[in-house]
Amino acid sequence: MRILLIEDEEGIAKRVGRALEGAGYIVERSSDGEDGWFRGDTEEFDAVVLDLGLPQMDGLQVLKRWRQNSRLMPVLVLTARGSWMERVEGIDAGADDYLPKPFQMEELIARVRALLRRSAGAADSVLRAGAVRLDTLRMTVSVDGAQIDVTQLEFRLLSYLMHHRERVISQLELTEHVYGEDIERDSNALEVLVARVRRKLGVDLIRTRRGFGYTIPGDVQLLPDD
Ligand code: CA
Repeated sequence: MRILLIEDEEGIAKRVGRALEGAGYIVERSSDGEDGWFRGDTEEFDAVVLDLGLPQMDGLQVLKRWRQNSRLMPVLVLTARGSWMERVEGIDAGADDYLPKPFQMEELIARVRALLRRSAGAADSVLRAGAVRLDTLRMTVSVDGAQIDVTQLEFRLLSYLMHHRERVISQLELTEHVYGEDIERDSNALEVLVARVRRKLGVDLIRTRRGFGYTIPGDVQLLPDD
């Protein structure tokens, strides 16, 4: 899952970025409103953490412009302590949640996780597809109740597909959300990763749509892989 963090205070941005990465997300950082708005308007993110007091364009303006342009990714707004006006304005502008500064990193992570789940239409922290369970809180995967060992990349891949069940995800989109932008795009690496996850799961969950990408069908009947 790929998160856009727009925060101009270097210290906070670093700590939030590290915490989100530690929770398994890919984090793209932006330190001013204009740049952040543009990235959110032109790139795909699973969620945004948005500070309100930003240079170039303030956070409320950023949010309003996205919403006017039907950019509907979930947005967690960071507000100044005790500023209820900012909260009200933020929610009016289309924020999905807000967090007053200063905050505990654990709370920020929990709220981001909840936003991602809600946007995937799941109410609890465990996503299910047939016999496969993906626990977004503990970052674990199990099949038929037996936990399987997954690396962070494998978890990210499965997590992204499960959060977007029924949608066909292109290789490009999946690569962006699994590897981030630091890595040279190499579809071969993605194919190898998908193959490895399939082998570990041992069930026919991730389907290939030739020429389109990968998908986990919504009504998947999971059969043992032989
Ligand atoms: Ca600020």
